[in-house]
Amino acid sequence: MSADSTEQDCIFCAIARGDIPSDGVYADDHVIAFRDINPQAPSHVLVAPRRHVASIDELKDDQEFLGRVMAVAITVAQAEELAESGYRLATNHGRDGAQSVPHLHVHVLGGRALNGRLG
Ligand code: AMP
Repeated sequence: MSADSTEQDCIFCAIARGDIPSDGVYADDHVIAFRDINPQAPSHVLVAPRRHVASIDELKDDQEFLGRVMAVAITVAQAEELAESGYRLATNHGRDGAQSVPHLHVHVLGGRALNGRLG
């Protein structure tokens, strides 16, 4: 099956394919993780599925895959040595959620005291 136009244009699909460079910190057959190009904290890693999933809103009925993505986020946070000091996992969906890249990604943020405000 050929990729639809959304996948063809998708920057995180291109990163997953290796077509554009990224600062990768984790990869397996299903999930990749790479450093955010505009970090908001000393550690700021994005965890994303290799396949095109527009946002977490598509995964309600795929709890196994959702769990796989979140488990990688925890793995990355621990590898970044954030478990003791603390970290934040965040994922944005849609316009009001301030999602700017329409390919699911979980932000792993830590390495400093984060603002308690979430919105
Ligand atoms: P969001 O607003 O939740 O969709 O987050 C998108 C994130 O992707 C932002 O934090 C951007 O800095 C980050 N980003 C965009 N392009 C790239 C890229 N080529 N490599 C790494 N991070 C990127």
